[in-house]
Amino acid sequence: MSITSEIKELHAELPEGVRLVAVSKFHPVEAVAEAYAAGQRLFGESRVQELLQKIPLCPSDIQWHFIGHLQTNKVRQLIGKTALIESVDSERLLELIDRESERAGVVTRVLMQVHVAREETKFGFWPEELLDYFKARRFENLKATHICGVMGMASNTDDVERVRADFRAIADVFLAIRDDSELGLRGFDTISMGMSGDWPIAVEEGSNLVRVGTRIFGLRQY
Ligand SMILES: *Cc1c(COP(=O)(O)O)cnc(C)c1O
Repeated sequence: MSITSEIKELHAELPEGVRLVAVSKFHPVEAVAEAYAAGQRLFGESRVQELLQKIPLCPSDIQWHFIGHLQTNKVRQLIGKTALIESVDSERLLELIDRESERAGVVTRVLMQVHVAREETKFGFWPEELLDYFKARRFENLKATHICGVMGMASNTDDVERVRADFRAIADVFLAIRDDSELGLRGFDTISMGMSGDWPIAVEEGSNLVRVGTRIFGLRQY
């Protein structure tokens, strides 16, 4: 299968209202160009350096999502370059993004990363921690950052029920925050879950943004 046919097939398979992020990390700009030509406009990268190298070599109407662990010393370079930072995994990082965004005179859109998977990643907010953050209304201190929703990953396992339970746990936190009218959040509407191996389950559990790399581009190249 080619990049073109995978993109077209995914666009046909995804239900209405579910957007596709083509995860192009570790693949060359030629691969991005082929996906772009097939109609893809949303791309995901997980390293700041790689993203900054690709941006000037790619069409300017691409929307870039940052999906990797963001080190605090890279924040300043990233601000203003993304349509969405999906992987805010600590309050410290969020505050830094906010400060740098204000300084640069831009508003940065972000998702809060929720940690539910057993072993996959040490990054992210535990569900209770995230609920507490919102209940304490600390988001009201943000000046130049818009929290648009949550992102999360399921355990890397063949156990489909385990994967489903992980996605459900992420969706539960998302809905608890979104549907809490006392919080009065606006534009909190994005739930990013699902990768090459598990996106259909993620969509069944309510995802409206899937991040697919390997299925589109093949095994990563460097
Ligand atoms: C690499 C990556 C993906 C894509 O994973 P595939 O299994 O290649 O589809 C999705 N989300 C995040 C956060 C990633 O780092």
